[in-house]
Amino acid sequence: MCGIVGYVGQRNATGVIVSGLQRLEYRGYDSAGVALYSSHRKALVRVRSVGKIAALVSRIEKDVPDQDGLDYTLGIGHTRWATHGAPTEANAHPHFSRSGEFAVAHNGIIENYVALKERLVQKGYVFTSETDTEVLAHLIEECYEGDLHRAVAAALEQVEGTYGIAVISSRHPGLIVAARKGSPIAIGVGSGETIVASDISAIINYTKKVVFLNDEDIATITAEGLDISSLKNVPVSRELTHIDWSLGQIEKGGFEHFMLKEIHEQPQALANAIRGRLLEKDGTTHLGGIRMTSAEIARIRHITIAACGTSYYAGMVGKYFFEDLAGLSTDIEQAAEFRYRNPIIERDTLLLAISQSGETADTIEAVREGMRKGATVLGICNVVGSTIARETERGVYLHAGPEIGVASTKAFSAQVAVLAMLAIVFGRARRLSGSTGRDLVRELLRAPEVAAAALEQEPAIKVIAEKYARAEHMFFLGRGYMYPVALEGALKLKEISYIHAEGYHAAELKHGPIALLDEHVPVVVAVPDLHGKSKTISNMQECRARSSPVIAIATAGDDEVNRYSNDVIRVPRCLDFLTPIPVVIVEQLLAYHIAKCRGCPIDQPRNLAKSVTVE
Ligand code: GLU
Repeated sequence: MCGIVGYVGQRNATGVIVSGLQRLEYRGYDSAGVALYSSHRKALVRVRSVGKIAALVSRIEKDVPDQDGLDYTLGIGHTRWATHGAPTEANAHPHFSRSGEFAVAHNGIIENYVALKERLVQKGYVFTSETDTEVLAHLIEECYEGDLHRAVAAALEQVEGTYGIAVISSRHPGLIVAARKGSPIAIGVGSGETIVASDISAIINYTKKVVFLNDEDIATITAEGLDISSLKNVPVSRELTHIDWSLGQIEKGGFEHFMLKEIHEQPQALANAIRGRLLEKDGTTHLGGIRMTSAEIARIRHITIAACGTSYYAGMVGKYFFEDLAGLSTDIEQAAEFRYRNPIIERDTLLLAISQSGETADTIEAVREGMRKGATVLGICNVVGSTIARETERGVYLHAGPEIGVASTKAFSAQVAVLAMLAIVFGRARRLSGSTGRDLVRELLRAPEVAAAALEQEPAIKVIAEKYARAEHMFFLGRGYMYPVALEGALKLKEISYIHAEGYHAAELKHGPIALLDEHVPVVVAVPDLHGKSKTISNMQECRARSSPVIAIATAGDDEVNRYSNDVIRVPRCLDFLTPIPVVIVEQLLAYHIAKCRGCPIDQPRNLAKSVTVE
């Protein structure tokens, strides 16, 4: 999920790799490292460090100075965004094999690493990190019979999951082997030098000629160029692309803002969040980090969720999941309120703390208060090794990848997916049947495709956004699962467009806020074809009777809503518990395009910080 840079050529590899890693800094990372081939020592040397690249650079200067500038002409580097194991020096990449002759930098997740690790440990391999990646280094050494390319291919044949990797070996001083599956790898072809990277921003200072690997491609890279084959050793050819993008464009993946890029990353973020965690046959989910047996889960009598902002709204969706799917009474609390009240924690209560960064000050304190009161505490965070992840002995990571845009987008949908997986496993330990569990798991497997279908509505959403961009006030309405989603939609719009937006339960409108409606106040209504739709349609009519324009978010093919709406945006049909995901994506795109029409600074909205680490 983070950055890889490798170099083979005539220059000092350290400089190229470090400056490449600096170009990838914008992606967010927690630690970094390099492995270099020393032609004087005829061996690999390695330097890793927690924190910023600047810290790595001073360690390199101290520990492996390149005296003549020519010692290192081959190397790989990595910025890590931890998924397995805290951000420590021992977990930072590159990882070495047992002999120290093979080094691997990896982006992605090796799903079956536990089984592979157990087998390797039995064969005497000693692991020095908690990462999933380290199995790759040992596997490559185990498979090595004189040909690095073959060894990497044989190792990858055993691996399930996603990877972008770069591998070097002291046995092959002029060679890098790179491969990809689900995590990008680009190779820059220079004259007498070749650079491999997970992102072309690390390459284009040196060459504009780039080859992109496809999934299951494996490349043998030398200073003179590269050969690509499939994992099965069948040669393949990939086009040489000429890059004429600016660095700024590259960092945002061609999108104008990080927020838009992250909105579009949701199918991938959801795929990563559910990867290896859905057990279709058993109709349940596997979340290793919860560290509870089925009997312990069955003993839980009550769930309290504490969170702030977008995570709070995801938590509200979670409340419905736990009640509907697991039959567990659930409260949702604003973390700031929870920590200063005197919350009653009954026996057998599970406190769920949700925070993208894992550093939200009020949520951290809610965790501490919950622990003092004897609750079992479980954290749901995106950032591995963050304070909440460390302080709670149980947790589930989102694996959504770094989120840079201040307004949270992909973290929300990944939180919803993780909460659904938790509710399924809790439900299965209680009242949920195997066949219902299987239906739910199958539906959750569709999450990436459902998210992709919602993204296809962007052209229509753009037109609607232009129509309403001058509004001063807006309402977002919904009921059931769409109630928290309406609150999140209003929050998104406020954050980035500065339009005054209110999220309300659709039925609550007539208890006061309806007084504000007139032709200048558009109302966005989440009204998918689910239980309660006809009641929400009545609420839409109430709005229209006050001359408010109604923008409906409705199920594809459901034409009934057309009559009660000025504009309709479509989401794919799915089971009620999955519907928050496509609907929130539509709301994110609506907020984004409205903010864009208004000329707002979308990635740095005024007065806001990415994570709220103060009270
Ligand atoms: N899963 C690997 C780890 O936790 C790679 C993380 C990354 O993509 O940066 O070390």
